Amino acid sequence: MSLFASLPQSDFPLADWVDGKKLMGKKLAEAVRAHIRAETQAHSLQPGLAVIWVGDDAASQVYVGGKEKAATELGYKSLVIRLPATATQEQIVAKIHEFNHAPDIHGILVQLPLPQHLNEREILQAIIAEKDADGFHFVNQGRLLAGAETVLSCTPAGIVLMLRELEKNVGELNFAGKHAVVVGRSNIVGKPMAQLLLSILNMTVTMCHSKTQALDSYVAAADVLVSATGVRGIVNTNKIKAGAIVIDVGMHRIDGKLTGDLDLQPVIERAAYYTPVPGGVGPMTIAMLLYNTFRNARALSAARHLA
Ligand code: NDP
Repeated sequence: MSLFASLPQSDFPLADWVDGKKLMGKKLAEAVRAHIRAETQAHSLQPGLAVIWVGDDAASQVYVGGKEKAATELGYKSLVIRLPATATQEQIVAKIHEFNHAPDIHGILVQLPLPQHLNEREILQAIIAEKDADGFHFVNQGRLLAGAETVLSCTPAGIVLMLRELEKNVGELNFAGKHAVVVGRSNIVGKPMAQLLLSILNMTVTMCHSKTQALDSYVAAADVLVSATGVRGIVNTNKIKAGAIVIDVGMHRIDGKLTGDLDLQPVIERAAYYTPVPGGVGPMTIAMLLYNTFRNARALSAARHLA
């Protein structure tokens, strides 16, 4: 099966989640969750999600709580295993092995960041590819590169779903051959994002990062601009092309208020569509985590029936 099949196969009418120029990820995430609910019922499945949270990072507390709540609301079995910041590599890997073998768990997620003394790569790769909820396993990343159906990294998957639905429903929009610029090249967001824009939407993709020279010139040339730097103000939004689609992945808490990477005022004036923060990309990330866990449950259940 092709990469396209990795995304929810349903229609999500724009009237439910696009408000003028604003791509309301929060509303689309509700529709995706309703789709997952219908699918889990149709397949008589109860997906199980286990989250391993090490240490006491304050932001992680909010993210873990959000994931647990969303999973429980959908009727998933939801486990949060909290380990102290002093937990050893062996203790964490042993926990992962336990979940790898648990028949009622279909998605395993290790909340990042991990404390400094731990080997993040080794820990993430200890989760078997079939129970990878985040699309971080090397096998799943390789499948993405090869254009095969896989578990997608949640944030880029949520963004490409938004863009796919826009293209399906806005007559004049055709992404094929248009220029996408992704600012940020992390394994979690930037790289899989670029790959999905290339493979699913057939865009011509430029990846920018901290060594990129003349970033403004790329920003000005983008038909779709994705900012995933985690640094506010890097992208000069006065330079964006009129009519561009602008996606802000960044999350910053300033004086208790959540904002993205971008200064939105010029975006609101110039873009055709944009994602707000909060309520844009973030809720889609959680919806895709739940979707990945459902997909894993469906595949594992089918494999059990064949065995
Ligand atoms: P990383 O820190 O792993 O990556 C940041 C990327 O930005 C790097 O590739 C870095 O380049 C690039 N960058 C940094 N400074 C510049 C610069 N001056 N010019 C151009 N590029 C630059 O972050 P993540 O990808 O994990 O996350 C990015 C942001 O997205 C964070 O704010 C995070 O909180 C947010 N996020 C939000 C999610 C959501 O659900 N809304 C989910 C995941 C992340 P280089 O590689 O050269 O260092």
